[in-house]
Amino acid sequence: MTHPAQPKASHFINGEYVEDTAGTPIPVIYAATGEQIATVHAATPAIVEQALSTAKAAQTAWARMTGTERGRILRRAADIMRERNHDLSVLETYDTGKPLQETLVADATSGADALEYFGGLAASLTGEHIPLGEDWVYTKREALGLCVGIGAWNYPTQIACWKGAPALACGNSMVFKPSETTPLCALKVAEILIEAGAPAGVFNVVQGMGEVGGALVTDPRVDKVSLTGSVPTGKKVYAAAAEGMKHVTMELGGKSPLIIFDDADIDNAVGGAINGNFYSSGQVCSNGTRVFVQKGIKEKFLARLAERTGNAILGDPMDEATSFGPMVTEKQMNIVLGYIEKGKEEGARLICGGKRADMDGYFIEPTVFADVTDDMTIAREEIFGPVMSVLDFDTEEEVVARANDTEFGLSAGVFTKDFTRAHRVIGNLEAGSCFINSYNDAPVEAPFGGVKASGVGRENSKEAIKHFSQVKSVYVRMGDVEAAF
Ligand code: NDP
Repeated sequence: MTHPAQPKASHFINGEYVEDTAGTPIPVIYAATGEQIATVHAATPAIVEQALSTAKAAQTAWARMTGTERGRILRRAADIMRERNHDLSVLETYDTGKPLQETLVADATSGADALEYFGGLAASLTGEHIPLGEDWVYTKREALGLCVGIGAWNYPTQIACWKGAPALACGNSMVFKPSETTPLCALKVAEILIEAGAPAGVFNVVQGMGEVGGALVTDPRVDKVSLTGSVPTGKKVYAAAAEGMKHVTMELGGKSPLIIFDDADIDNAVGGAINGNFYSSGQVCSNGTRVFVQKGIKEKFLARLAERTGNAILGDPMDEATSFGPMVTEKQMNIVLGYIEKGKEEGARLICGGKRADMDGYFIEPTVFADVTDDMTIAREEIFGPVMSVLDFDTEEEVVARANDTEFGLSAGVFTKDFTRAHRVIGNLEAGSCFINSYNDAPVEAPFGGVKASGVGRENSKEAIKHFSQVKSVYVRMGDVEAAF
């Protein structure tokens, strides 16, 4: 019998499901059991061509609609997503292995927030009037054209919406390629947009590996590329986009610092460290994986952290009581286990976890290392799994310098009751998305993105509009034209 997660076909182009079985088969594996639940096929060159030409053709009429009309469609799509939240969350859990307890509140709901927010902004994309005596200049905020979205595997619904909603609000069309690991959810987003009234062809989904992504990024018809992925992929995609002078948004990886001062509320700080390391089993780009704890509270912090981490419920992700799921794939599990071994070899002190859980699926126990030093591999490289490194520090000046000593700059957090210090420290940290006495909140109203190697551009908020539109300026002369001859 066909599994309920199996989509009707691999791709969604021009308002309908499309199949081409000549493409390489991509098995979809449920991470909690290792069982194959669906198969899709990578896009062949013919499918890539169909998606790009359809999106190109659909864009002009979409951009000519009023912002109010486009916004109404996006807001209707948001309503449909909320109505179907349960089914979409179950699919997200099949796609990623993340527990239903999370997907019910963080995926389709976050996607719906983006559709609603950008739907609301669509009608407000106006220009300026700049008086110049009798003459004047007016500006218009115009669509970029055809955009390509490429997603990572940790938030397949959210990433499709975070890219698709602002792109469509501004009058662009999009071809979206999900990660080959999680191909299912973006198809539902495309389906819902059509149901909400989006014209066929404005949002299309094609499956495939990096090769398909590469074909999309280098196509001369594409005006913008928005990628969520790792830094090495980001460098390749950015370079390929530069060749064609395309706009880019790069949401890449991190190794973010979370700094906890002696005066912090210990339970809130522990909660922040848990949210910033173990949500989605640690597969979150903005995670605060270098937890700097001031020496005075170090052992107390570690004891409370170990106690609360022991309360994580590993198990069937479809059971709403389960609070901690598996790694997305066997490959990712092995990468993370490799880092855990490195941590042990390099002399970090294991506080809890540290191994694969004794159960089916790709589960790793939530792992905490203490006495981690700045030069250890687990403190320098992005692990993308449930491995928290706790480092200790003496002074504010010292911790800020150490926190900034990384190529990454996505996020940073600080826990302290001293608000002057909180703002000063955040002001001195090299990071794009920061938190004070909290960690990993990502509301659509707030800009999201990194500095340094962690990215270019911002997603969400009014900032995203700037990255999916461009300004045209028009000089209007009222009198005669003066010329030298
Ligand atoms: P990858 O960088 O491996 O892949 C990201 C996407 O790019 C995938 O769809 C991938 O396809 C595609 N891709 C790979 N090579 C190319 C290429 N040459 N041209 C075009 N597209 C290509 O990341 P993961 O999927 O492994 O995701 C994990 C990474 O994503 C982590 O490093 C994490 O930090 C980062 N991330 C960043 C976020 C942010 O907002 N800053 C949010 C979430 C994750 P395929 O995988 O199918 O081969």
